[in-house]
Amino acid sequence: MVKEEHMVNGTALNQTQSARATVLIVEDELLVAENIARNLKKQGYHTVDIVTSGEEAIVQAQFHAPTIVLMDIMLQGEIDGIAAAGTIRQELGLPIIYMTAYVDDVTLERAKLTEPYGYLVKPFKPYDLKTTIEIALQKHQSEQERQKQYLSRIKQAEQKLNQLAERDPLTQLPTWPVLQAQFEQRSSEWRLTDRLVSASALLMPIFYLGLDRYHRIGHHWGYQFSDQLLKAITTRMTNALSSSSLITRIDISEFVILTDPVGSKDQAEAIAQHLLNQIAIPFRINQQEIFLTASIGIAFYPQDDDQFNPLLRRSRRVMHFAQQQGGNTYRSFTHLLRSDLVDRLTLETDLHYALERQELRLYYQPKVNLRTGKITGAEALLRWQHPKQGMIPPDVFIPIAEETGLIESIGAWVMQTACQQLRTWQQAAMPPLKIAINLSVCQFNQSQCHQRIRRILAETQVNPQSLEIELTESTLIQDIDLAVHRLQDLKLLGIQIAIDDFGTGYSSLSHLYRFQFDILKLDRSFVQNIHMNPKNGAIAAAIISMAHQLNLKVVAEGVETINELAFLYEHQCDEMQGYLFSRPVPAEEFAALVRMGKQLVTPA
Ligand code: C2E
Ligand code: MG
Ligand code: MG
Repeated sequence: MVKEEHMVNGTALNQTQSARATVLIVEDELLVAENIARNLKKQGYHTVDIVTSGEEAIVQAQFHAPTIVLMDIMLQGEIDGIAAAGTIRQELGLPIIYMTAYVDDVTLERAKLTEPYGYLVKPFKPYDLKTTIEIALQKHQSEQERQKQYLSRIKQAEQKLNQLAERDPLTQLPTWPVLQAQFEQRSSEWRLTDRLVSASALLMPIFYLGLDRYHRIGHHWGYQFSDQLLKAITTRMTNALSSSSLITRIDISEFVILTDPVGSKDQAEAIAQHLLNQIAIPFRINQQEIFLTASIGIAFYPQDDDQFNPLLRRSRRVMHFAQQQGGNTYRSFTHLLRSDLVDRLTLETDLHYALERQELRLYYQPKVNLRTGKITGAEALLRWQHPKQGMIPPDVFIPIAEETGLIESIGAWVMQTACQQLRTWQQAAMPPLKIAINLSVCQFNQSQCHQRIRRILAETQVNPQSLEIELTESTLIQDIDLAVHRLQDLKLLGIQIAIDDFGTGYSSLSHLYRFQFDILKLDRSFVQNIHMNPKNGAIAAAIISMAHQLNLKVVAEGVETINELAFLYEHQCDEMQGYLFSRPVPAEEFAALVRMGKQLVTPA
């Protein structure tokens, strides 16, 4: 009885659903469109509108939010049916059914990428129309259900990750999420004070402290020892600062500190010097005396920037600069700009000529499948062979390229070179390889980015499926809607998208979902000593399993030891990249690795 009633209800539900279903018809032959509309009406559907172009289709879909869209593939005008469908799918998540008389293979491939819910081959019978719509609606409904379940699971996992991430178990210091939240709070308080004490000269410093040459301590004395040392350093820093200061640990040997606002830069620099003095006093761990120094980079809110991320980047950059100067010193961003203007200017000028003088190189770092041990492709990494200063790492010159606008031509060069290389390898009958290219924020935000990639792909005749683009989360979250749009454009070309350095920064799993990435690159900071650090291990394992639920391939970055590899293997990570297998190498060397069939010895 109960069962019967359930069934009756089930059919009743389906019937009312199709009766309530509203359809948008996109068809440039009006007679055909009207004929379809008549048939739909007979079958109990409601036609919300008939439009004849892709542009109108997008507008009307937004306006009416129909249950389903019938889309003619061949449309006159700028935006054809597939492009319009892509936008409608991505922005509104509406199911699309294509109607078409004939399509060539290329168009069909493009159409597939928009994940349509059905195809109707013209001319079609009313009955075909009905079944195709019904199946599509059914599919859409169960997909939405699945999506809902996914999202709630993702939210749970995200909470868990955030809890794990908020406090560093070793030093008990808060970490990234707390830092960001505190920055937002303190800067809004600052704005309030600024308004009260009109034109106040107060500045809010961000201190980025890095321990100099810290890695050698772990190597030399062992990790237990370096853990103890880190605790001692934490205590010393805490004692050296006022209780209202916030000390956070955001990397193995890197800390970020927020203090109360200061009246002058000198005051902030005095704090930095005090911290350096405290750290320079020898530590005693297990009867062993240890000498250690640190370097500090300072950036000021709101003077150097009024956003958290750029400020943090700047303070980190000056910290690195201080380390390059020999360490045990501090630098402030504005100070750096002034005193090292000459250096920077020469570097800037040199960078202008770097392309012309062919000083840029692409190195390739193999990515390896953990199951087969075989090379699947490579990440292309940019190098600058400076005639006087030697090899300059991308971390140093890419920010300059971005600030000067040179990134545009450099980025195009990278893309061109990598695609040509790929083509050469394909022609040389090398096994199929994928090449990943990094795009920085400002490259991704350029409106012509997509066209340029499309042109290069066409010119080099590289199959877009063998190209991957790596983006970081911070690149995307500045304007989420725009980013979703841009990513969709790239994906429609057939390119795979990887989220780079995952785990640093925001790590919002809902972003993973919205952006529909294909690949997740687990940041090196989680991979390092993964087998010895329970927190990193837990986070990495949780990320891998969540990523798999979202059908993402996981690539671990910066794998250096066999123990790290064993952990990743055990937790079903898909691919690895890191010095353990190979450093980034010139193209010929990479090709040689592939040709000789170099394999990773997997732990199994
Ligand atoms: P990324 O995309 O996260 O690249 C991975 C970095 O980790 C590379 O540094 C690589 O050499 C390094 N790495 C790989 N395996 C290991 C390992 O086992 N241990 C350690 N310690 N490091 C490892 P690299 O080449 O210095 O690049 C730094 C960053 O510069 C890249 O980070 C990427 O964000 C950016 N970059 C590099 N090339 C380009 C480019 O062509 N365009 C843009 N926009 N950015 C680029
Ligand atoms: Mg990368
Ligand atoms: Mg990375």
